[in-house]
Amino acid sequence: MKLSPSAIETFLFRGRDFYVKRDDTIDPLLSGNKYRKLYTLLQTAPQDYTKILSYGGIQSNAMLSIAALCHQKGWEFHYTAKTIPSSVKRDVTGNLKMAMELGMKLHEVSPADYDAEIALLRSKESESTTLLVSQGGADPLAQQGVEVLADEIRAWKKENRHTSLTIVTPSGTGTTAYYLAQALPEHTIVTTPVIGDSAYLLTQLARLGSHPENLQLLQSEKKYHFGKPYAEFLKLYRELKQSGLEFDLLYGTKMWLVLLENMESLEGDILYVHSGGIIGNETMLERYVYKGMS
Ligand SMILES: *Cc1c(COP(=O)(O)O)cnc(C)c1O
Repeated sequence: MKLSPSAIETFLFRGRDFYVKRDDTIDPLLSGNKYRKLYTLLQTAPQDYTKILSYGGIQSNAMLSIAALCHQKGWEFHYTAKTIPSSVKRDVTGNLKMAMELGMKLHEVSPADYDAEIALLRSKESESTTLLVSQGGADPLAQQGVEVLADEIRAWKKENRHTSLTIVTPSGTGTTAYYLAQALPEHTIVTTPVIGDSAYLLTQLARLGSHPENLQLLQSEKKYHFGKPYAEFLKLYRELKQSGLEFDLLYGTKMWLVLLENMESLEGDILYVHSGGIIGNETMLERYVYKGMS
């Protein structure tokens, strides 16, 4: 599967022009940076694997993307997660529901056994047709696909004669931002930690290698907990949407918040790499309603 590059569009927001790389339009299930991170596997022949293993949160975008990939390739997909509350199990929704419908096999383990179970998964990988994908796709496997993204940006920049460009994208594991910074040393890549704080993100990044000099971390003034509804996120999400683009409520909205707080310190034009994840908004918006924040 070889796709044409995703479009780069201008986005007028709060009286300023931004450029947005529309990776959210690549595929509804394999969208945004998950498509990029799974690119190598998408190029892999179906007969090369029989089984993919992964683990993490039960509404994870990576989980859904891997499920879609395995469905496409005819591979079994086994996903390990911490025991799900029975209230959730009674009414499975969102990414989990879709992933199960795509044939994902869920393995629940108690929080106490979780780490040991993940270690065990690593030993199962010795079977040559079984592959373990780290949580969130935080894997050297992601490098190739992010390099394709970097090539697309470079080609666009050349064609449009942009000289100074700051590239912005949110981070969970930081895998996308890391490989993007490595592939585009001539640009500053700005990101923000969405899961945990900067210290946590730096630890995640260090697993991939030494810190690229051009990778800049920005933190929000206020501290936010991952996955929790915040009135200011909802407000900004709506304002962005009214201006013409939808971003996801977990990562995108936080990145925009931090970006707007730091506009003066950023140089040249801003290219925002849309990381996808729109499909998760439905369950997030339900949580906002539940909290009385709609
Ligand atoms: C997974 C995800 C991220 C985080 O990507 P990392 O490469 O883990 O930093 C950012 N945005 C969205 C919408 C995601 O689904």
